[in-house]
Amino acid sequence: MPGIVIVGAGFGGIGMGIALKKAGFDDFLILDKGDDLGGTWRDNQYPGCACDVPSPLYSYSFELNPNWSRLFAPQQEIWDYLRMCARRYRVDEHIRYGCTVERMDWDDDTRRWTIVTVEHGEVGSYQARAVVSAAGALHLPSYPDIPGAGSFGGASFHSARWDPSCDLTGQRVAVIGTGASAIQFVPEIAAQAAHLTVFQRTPPWIHPRPDVEIPARLRAAFNTVPLTARACRDVIYLLMEARALGFAVNPKLMAPLERMARRHLEKQVADPALRARLTPDYTIGCKRILLSSTYYPALQRPNVDPITEGVAEITETGVVAADGTAHPADVIIYATGFKVVESVTSLNVAGRDGRKLTPENLEAYRGVTVAGFPNFFMLLGPNTGLGHTSVVFMIESQVQHVLSCLRILAKSGADTIEVSEQAQRRYNDTLQRRLRRAVWSEGGCDSWYLDADGINRALWPGFTFEYWARTRRARRADYAVTRP
Ligand code: NAP
Repeated sequence: MPGIVIVGAGFGGIGMGIALKKAGFDDFLILDKGDDLGGTWRDNQYPGCACDVPSPLYSYSFELNPNWSRLFAPQQEIWDYLRMCARRYRVDEHIRYGCTVERMDWDDDTRRWTIVTVEHGEVGSYQARAVVSAAGALHLPSYPDIPGAGSFGGASFHSARWDPSCDLTGQRVAVIGTGASAIQFVPEIAAQAAHLTVFQRTPPWIHPRPDVEIPARLRAAFNTVPLTARACRDVIYLLMEARALGFAVNPKLMAPLERMARRHLEKQVADPALRARLTPDYTIGCKRILLSSTYYPALQRPNVDPITEGVAEITETGVVAADGTAHPADVIIYATGFKVVESVTSLNVAGRDGRKLTPENLEAYRGVTVAGFPNFFMLLGPNTGLGHTSVVFMIESQVQHVLSCLRILAKSGADTIEVSEQAQRRYNDTLQRRLRRAVWSEGGCDSWYLDADGINRALWPGFTFEYWARTRRARRADYAVTRP
């Protein structure tokens, strides 16, 4: 029986495993539904997939990579980096692949979690003293509920399940969605397809992407003088954090970011009618700010049609827009995002007395622990996503919080630790008060950050250093421990 089961072998699960190893704790297992580690960087293999946070920051603070080829590294490099980290710290030996978690139940008598899995078609189960959910929020593709979708006669797939066997050369391709994924692959496939129709429901705010190759000389300096790599990361951290002023302090401070996006649109789109169709009507930052210097030019290619009327239905031969115009297609690509709430609830976690994590009650203390769920921890849990910088920083803060809880257990000779209802309530009331004033609620848009009741259960509303300072150590007073 492993002491700790970690669910998911992405940035969260691998980071947790490394921290446990460093702390001298070898008794853990990582379960992953895929056939390789990497999480989102394994799943998303669409053309042009890259990180939109600079790589020196989108990496572990304890394992800087001096060899990033570009400021915004492509998917393959990030995936390779994560595999290298897993190997270097021998965390890969702890991973079980092809293992989907169906259910996790706490048993108050045995004081253990039972994790029910389906492994290569067979139902199995594990018992563990503690569970860390590192499944991430963006791993269940969301397919839109468009009438007639099942009748389409051509190929169709989701951006996070890219079909490499589907050659788009010379095909008529329809893309539904214009979020962070679509704007990365639309410029890549525009030249390949005979015709590309891009269905936009809500225009995104887009900034130029300041991507550059990292010169060999600079990479050599990062390798020989590691302090230079650290300094580079720190400068990027501060620049990104400055953007949080508008998110965290006052939405009015978003104005310079909006001016920058408007200038980018004006510079790249000359036609005022098209520009109007591509201009958002909500405050910048309300949805994720996207980065691309090639998306607007791609939309203006002669073989590309941006459709802004909305989608009415899908037929056997293509997509019909809301104005009744039929757009024939051989391939439909859904770039329609992920089921965020279900990413946690699909694990069917049942705590003390059968309590469930449901979409309506999805909250946690510091995004990590939940009252009624002893020895249960989440990485990238509720309200720990970011609109302005790297979530790897958040993961590292959460990993420290988990270790701190485990230390409390060890010191007190206890075998369960559970956050108090009061601490969780206080924390979330304050958080939601702050969120009500933030751009995601005030900015006049709908986004996956808000649930069906308009409650933001996705994002952290502040600076990341504040989160780090408050989270990395568990406050003993906020937790109850029990002895065997
Ligand atoms: P997304 O941001 O949720 O975008 C989904 C797109 O699909 C939106 O344009 C949405 O329109 C549209 N859509 C959804 N349902 C639709 C429907 N029924 N009819 C028409 N359009 C529909 O998804 P994503 O682009 O996959 O990105 C998800 C998240 O992944 C991002 O926010 C980001 O956190 C992450 N990501 C990160 C990177 C990176 O480089 N680090 C890259 C890609 C993704 P509306 O706007 O109107 O809802």
